[in-house]
Amino acid sequence: MRVARTIFLALSVTSAAVSLTGCHLFHRRAAPQPAKPKVAAPVVRPPMAALDLTKVSPNEAGMVPILEYHDLVSTNKTKGYQYPAAAFRKDIQWLYDHKYRPISLHDYVLGEIDCPAGMSPVILTFDDALKGQFRYTPDGKVDPNCAVGILDDFHAKHPDWALKGSFFVLTNGDPHLPPPFYQADTAQGKMEYLVREGFEIGNHTVHHQLGMRHWPDVRVQQEFAQAVTNIHTFLPSYVVDTLALPDGVFPQNKKLVIGGASGGVTYHNICALKAGAEPAISPMSIRFKPYYIPRIIPGTGRDTIQFWLNFLEKNKGSKFVSDGDPNTYTLNAIQKSQLSLPRLQKGHFHLRTYNGTQVIDSK
Ligand SMILES: [Zn+2]
Repeated sequence: MRVARTIFLALSVTSAAVSLTGCHLFHRRAAPQPAKPKVAAPVVRPPMAALDLTKVSPNEAGMVPILEYHDLVSTNKTKGYQYPAAAFRKDIQWLYDHKYRPISLHDYVLGEIDCPAGMSPVILTFDDALKGQFRYTPDGKVDPNCAVGILDDFHAKHPDWALKGSFFVLTNGDPHLPPPFYQADTAQGKMEYLVREGFEIGNHTVHHQLGMRHWPDVRVQQEFAQAVTNIHTFLPSYVVDTLALPDGVFPQNKKLVIGGASGGVTYHNICALKAGAEPAISPMSIRFKPYYIPRIIPGTGRDTIQFWLNFLEKNKGSKFVSDGDPNTYTLNAIQKSQLSLPRLQKGHFHLRTYNGTQVIDSK
C-alpha cells in the first residue's frame, strides 16, 4: 500500500477551525484513521529547481481539468452515465498527445503539482465503483476494456503516463447496492490492487441519496462516517479523506463535508468534489475553494470534457502548464495577482515570475 511523503504544515489541526472558502488545511495520508497530528512539523522544501525559460513557459495560475467518469461500456453510444470504453481510450491518448499527465487528487489539493516541466496536469476520477471501471474476465485477468485495464495497458506503453486516478466507491454497506465493481468474490482484491497500483480511494457516501440537503446533521455525519467504515472493511489502514458528493448535492450544514463523527468513527476530508461543471483552477489561485472543486463529465455538448479540453487548447493562457517542480509556482509576472500569496507562504512554496525568457522575481 502506498504511503506517501509526509509533509505537514506547522498548524494545529482542528476541523472546526477550517473555513469552507480557503485551503487552510494541508495534511498527507500517512497513518491509519483516526490518528491525526495535533501539531505537525514545519515544511522544509528543497531549493527551487532550475528551469530553462527558452524551452518552457509555465503557467501555474492556470486551470486543471478534473475528469469525472462513471461506467465504461462496449457499445459506441454515450448514454447517461455510460461512456464507450473506446471513447475513454481515445480521451487518454488525446490527453497524452496534448501534453497532459495525470497527477493525484491529493497532490492537487495540497498544491504539490507533480508534473514534468512543460506538461499540464489532469486528474481522472471514477464514481460509484461500477463494473466497467474494474472487471475481471472469467480466466481471472483484468478485462482490457475496463478503465483499469485500459489505464494499465496505456501505462505499459507510455511509462510517463503514471497510474493515477481517484475511485469514489460505493460499497455493499447498503445491502441494496452491489459490491464494489459488481464482482463480490474479487471486490477485496480489487480494492487492494487499486491502492497498490497508485490509485486513490475516496468517500462517495453509503446510500448515494440526493435528499442529503434535507437531512439533519446526525444523519449526514452517519452517512459520511459509515462510508469510511465500509471502505475500511476492505482497506483497514487506508486514510479516507477525499469526498465526492453524489450529484454534487451538499448537506444543508456544509461544514459537515469537512469533518464530523458518528458511532465512534470520525472522518475528515481535505476536499469535496462536485459533479459536472468546468475545469478546476490552480490550487494556489485566490479563488480556490477545496470544498467546492468542479469536475467535467464526458460527452460532446457544452461543459463536457471535449468542450473544455478544446477551450483550453484555444485559450492556452488558461491552461495550467507545469514548471516540473512541485515545490515552486512559476508564472508570467502579469498573472501574479491571481495567486494567493498567503497560501503560498503558508505552504512554504517558492514563487518565480517571468516575462518572456527573463526571470523577474524568484524566492
Ligand atoms: Zn455517484
